[in-house]
Amino acid sequence: MKIGVLASQGAFAEHITILKELGAEAVPVRLPKELEGIDGLIIPGGESTTISKLMLAYKLSDEIRSLAKKGIPIWGTCAGMILIAKEITDGTKVETLGLMDIRVKRNAFGRQTESFEAKLTIPALGKKSFPGVFIRAPLIEQVKSGEILARLKDGTIVAAREGKLLVSAFHPELTDDPRFHQYFLDIVGGLT
Ligand code: GLN
Repeated sequence: MKIGVLASQGAFAEHITILKELGAEAVPVRLPKELEGIDGLIIPGGESTTISKLMLAYKLSDEIRSLAKKGIPIWGTCAGMILIAKEITDGTKVETLGLMDIRVKRNAFGRQTESFEAKLTIPALGKKSFPGVFIRAPLIEQVKSGEILARLKDGTIVAAREGKLLVSAFHPELTDDPRFHQYFLDIVGGLT
């Protein structure tokens, strides 16, 4: 199983490390030709405005859209989630890929809590709580046709899935819990 990790900018190396620990082949993607032959793609956290500009400059955006059309699973973490969303509400002009029918708010948590950790209950990953690492994170205001996977205690939606598209507002690659990555590999493998 070969997973591409978009490596334009941001936290991509950590994703590659966990994927390899789980036995998958993981390759950084900076150019369209590096998307060839991948079975799944991760769009990591970072700065969504920057990643968006680089994706356009390197002609990756349309290629990624056509992978999604072919049913290749795509997972976006944090900035990656912003880039997958169809609708962004904070008024900034991020050109997203417009893949998943969710409405996302950027930089949604106040100054004091711009970065925080929260224990998340994610039934899809089993009973044990999952360490959610939030760094200037977005939140999901609305999931229009997919499934909500995780919420904060106050009800805020922080992870969702629509078919083979997966998003998380937090950073599983910055923890030593591989279950979210395993869940994505299970989607890629057609197991869930
Ligand atoms: N605040 C960033 C953005 O809007 C996302 C932060 C992250 O990916 N950790 O793009």
